[in-house]
Amino acid sequence: ELRTVASPWTLGPLRLPNRVVMGSMHTGLEVRDDGGVAMAAFYRERAAGGAACIITGGIAVNDEARGGPDFAVFGVDGADDRFRTAVAAVHDEGGTVLAQLFHAGRYALVGGLRDRHGRPQRAVAPSALPWAAARGVVPEELTADEVERTVADFATAARTAADLGFDGVEIMASEGYLVNQFQSPLTNLRDDEWGGTPAKRRRFAVEVVRAVRAAVPDLAVTIRLSGADLMPGSSTDEDVDALVLDLLPLGLDAISVGIGWHESRTPTIQAAVPHGAWIEQATRIADVVRASDHPHVAVIASNRMTDLRDGEAVLADGRIDAVALARPFLADAEIVARSLTGRFDLVNTCIGCNQACLDRSVVGAPVSCLVNPRAARELLFPLRPTAAPKRVDVVGGGPAGLAAAVDAARRGHDVRLWEAADVLGGQFGLAAVVPGKEDYAGPVQAARAELAERGATVHLGRPATIADLADSDAVVLASGVVPREVTIPGSDLPHVLTYEQTLEDGVPPGSVAIVGGGGIGVDTAAFLTESSDEAVRAAEFAARWDVPVSDQLVGDLPQRQPTVPRTVRPGHQVTVLRRSGKFGQGVGLTSRWVALGRLRDAGVRMVGGVQEYLRIEPGRLWIRDEAGAEVAVPADVVVLCAGQEARDDLVTDLRSAAVPFAVVGGARDARSVDAVRATSEALEAVRAL
Ligand code: SF4
Repeated sequence: ELRTVASPWTLGPLRLPNRVVMGSMHTGLEVRDDGGVAMAAFYRERAAGGAACIITGGIAVNDEARGGPDFAVFGVDGADDRFRTAVAAVHDEGGTVLAQLFHAGRYALVGGLRDRHGRPQRAVAPSALPWAAARGVVPEELTADEVERTVADFATAARTAADLGFDGVEIMASEGYLVNQFQSPLTNLRDDEWGGTPAKRRRFAVEVVRAVRAAVPDLAVTIRLSGADLMPGSSTDEDVDALVLDLLPLGLDAISVGIGWHESRTPTIQAAVPHGAWIEQATRIADVVRASDHPHVAVIASNRMTDLRDGEAVLADGRIDAVALARPFLADAEIVARSLTGRFDLVNTCIGCNQACLDRSVVGAPVSCLVNPRAARELLFPLRPTAAPKRVDVVGGGPAGLAAAVDAARRGHDVRLWEAADVLGGQFGLAAVVPGKEDYAGPVQAARAELAERGATVHLGRPATIADLADSDAVVLASGVVPREVTIPGSDLPHVLTYEQTLEDGVPPGSVAIVGGGGIGVDTAAFLTESSDEAVRAAEFAARWDVPVSDQLVGDLPQRQPTVPRTVRPGHQVTVLRRSGKFGQGVGLTSRWVALGRLRDAGVRMVGGVQEYLRIEPGRLWIRDEAGAEVAVPADVVVLCAGQEARDDLVTDLRSAAVPFAVVGGARDARSVDAVRATSEALEAVRAL
């Protein structure tokens, strides 16, 4: 099925067996003081899993190029040994690996950072302009000499990469980092030979490519370009295309097309962004390349592809040479191998939540994956078969239970999984009906398939009893949460629903008041106001953000077909109410603003500071508002999203029966449903058996 994805291609001096590149991801393993073994284990699994070519996380080309304390610099603190170890691991598995040469420019988070000489770290940029999240740091404008020196540092880093055994380098010139900053009239206000005209603003990228190519004539050299900055007033498509034409004669082997700056207000990689939305930019650049005197330079497309059938659709017409996926390799190191053998059902899908990857990376915390808590922790949790197989019972088939069951089954334990509902998935099953969250069905499907493959027993449709578990060697209690009982007068009326009832059955058109504005309240509001048809959402996204959006991939895969088909907005007027805290609390840092923006765009009213929910009547909910006034909120339906309580009723019985057990996830702590914590605890519990 993946005929094009599976076909070999040439990337400069490299002959690659398939067209899937693992895109650069900053994991923090780059600076771990372990000789590089954790980073090597991370890359090794992905090379063994079929990635044709791996791009490392960004490696700063000098001290001031670091984005923060967790960025490696060649030649500093053992970095070279670490990367040598990682490169060897990839080569052991028959893979190839490119070092990403990185300079943060004004995106450097320098607070408290020191350079290799112990001096406070500078932040530098084409012009002394801070960005919105700079925490008061104004970058210093690079002098012309320093610009020349920075170009030379890119070349030196490339040479070091060659010495360490890398197969090539990727120059990071996208996402608003230094090279991108030089190109843009927003961030380059210089009037010397490095700015002032579009051609002079392009010069830095040109000189970096020229210097790197000369430094490593035998290696693959690629550049990651911003297909569109998505910043009002920044480079136009014509500017980007002109840069492409400047770069093509310089001996580049590939252009990898990125999208958007980190400070862009247009969402780029969140789950709400339609699948394949940015392919348009890659095909535009491919057309420029093919019509040039250097049509053989490869073009690599990326972003918002979660399935290699997406890749096949993108590659099929021959304009694009390869696809680069990043987060899907965190979710499943074997995505390529599994997909190439047609086992799409086994692929653990990235759900685009950012919660364990990007949200952590931006605060310098170790990266992993919500749906694959082993990611970037491969050494801590090796996949070796157990020497002492046990009967392991997992109670609960939500994300935590599935993570525990799959890991135990993979390692050879005799697994029984108990789920009270008729289907697996728990909170993920509910989330999968929210527009934009269809991919949440993927990890559930993958776990179901893998458990079947490994002979685990799955009991559906009845809660486990202590009698079921009495002969168990170990129980992982991942029974999740139940909605918290709400005691507002009138909450027993028939038009008052739980969020579970709402997401499962929908509600008739009319006014809806949602009590509780955390992550579930926000999801429920999205469910009520957004189309379940991704093609409709893609058209709306293009209009809202004024960007060309490809609809090539939307809704083309079975898992993206809406389970509750609603092709038009059901016409709800929705009010989300919250007592205290932020709306969307619990939604990750890089996704929350997108989730709330969608609701604002859809006309959802958000009322914070509610002092008291007074009573529910047919057609309205009475509250005491922030100012202490009694106010009626229109409500043909009231949906309760007022938190959860742990479902942990087996604990006492397990204790008295002396069955060893561990409680994980929501069943352990329901105060905030944190799926990253839940799946991580599940893995840790099953490894402690
Ligand atoms: Fe994808 Fe979420 Fe995992 Fe990140 S944490 S790789 S977004 S599933």
